[in-house]
Amino acid sequence: MKELKDLVRPNVWVLKPYSSARDEFHGKASVFLDANENPWNVPYNRYPDPRQARLKERIAKLKGVKADSIFLGNGSDEAIDLIIRAFCEPGADSIVTIAPSYGMYEVAAGVNAVECKEVPLDADFGLDAEVVLAEADDRTKVIFLCSPNNPTGNSLDRGSIYKILRRFEGIVVIDEAYIDFSAYPSLLRELDGFPNLVVLQTLSKAWGAAAIRLGMAFASPEIIAVLDKIKYPYNVSLLTQEKALEILDGEEVMRNRVESILSERERLRYLLINKPFFFKVYPSDANFLLVDVGDATAVYDALLKEGVVVRNRDNVRMCHGCLRITVGSPEENDRLLDALGRVCPPIRLQRIIRLMEEKEDGKEGQA
Ligand code: PMP
Repeated sequence: MKELKDLVRPNVWVLKPYSSARDEFHGKASVFLDANENPWNVPYNRYPDPRQARLKERIAKLKGVKADSIFLGNGSDEAIDLIIRAFCEPGADSIVTIAPSYGMYEVAAGVNAVECKEVPLDADFGLDAEVVLAEADDRTKVIFLCSPNNPTGNSLDRGSIYKILRRFEGIVVIDEAYIDFSAYPSLLRELDGFPNLVVLQTLSKAWGAAAIRLGMAFASPEIIAVLDKIKYPYNVSLLTQEKALEILDGEEVMRNRVESILSERERLRYLLINKPFFFKVYPSDANFLLVDVGDATAVYDALLKEGVVVRNRDNVRMCHGCLRITVGSPEENDRLLDALGRVCPPIRLQRIIRLMEEKEDGKEGQA
């Protein structure tokens, strides 16, 4: 890895961060007249801990990392944005990512006037490390990889990830939003071995807490210090910090829910690949399935009329004909299957009629 100083944007490197009232005060006090707060409406009148110390201690214990290796943000989307802002000079630098993958890397790069270079995955949605490395040049500061990947669902090959971590001299972000559904272990245990590694995780998926907005970035204390320097001072609300502490006490509840989602995922897969649907369902290490239904937009629209909303990925590179279906509760999945059973036969029939008409037209055209 290059020296961190040579990777971070020069203005960020020399930046003196805003120092909030709660940052400056250390020690014990009982009268707080330092932050222009309101004395009433306890406890919401007070700014929350800008360093999220208690929550970081809790997460450190849970994940087996040091607290100073953790950045907490308003969802992992905040971390994605801050990583690009910290390392990439607008109008000059670039990121490299894979395609198809999570759309926010490209959007966050675009907002920051940073070029986003996309490397297509292979036909099985596999990662070719050599192609990714070849796409990165002098101005590429960050490579974003997502594993398990969204929307494809598969985990990326470990060997290829290690190759990129070893050979790329910039920052490598591994987005592990779906890691708790995966058969593979997290790359968190590799933090000590790779100074350029940033691992993203979130409370939005396995922990079932998308509403509270808590994302985590794990990296060396030096990288974390850079992200902390440019974040909003109070980026994680008191409500989020407290609710997160409560939720994280329920690890067993989380594991049981993940188990249920995994068994439902396999039930759904089985039912979708067999009679009467015969869909192609891609392998998934996440809490969703990428399903090739043929006429994806027609099926999507028809499901919507049945009150079932899935994600139409028809226009996404390499996902033509596909819907991304989140695994829900057994009842929700049954409703999806019932609705598919009703909407698919007429759509198939229309398709056959259309194909026959096109064939007829072709014949007439030749005559
Ligand atoms: N990464 C991936 C791969 C995702 O799919 C998502 C959400 N769909 C996120 C990050 C964002 O998660 P959060 O709710 O923590 O912002």
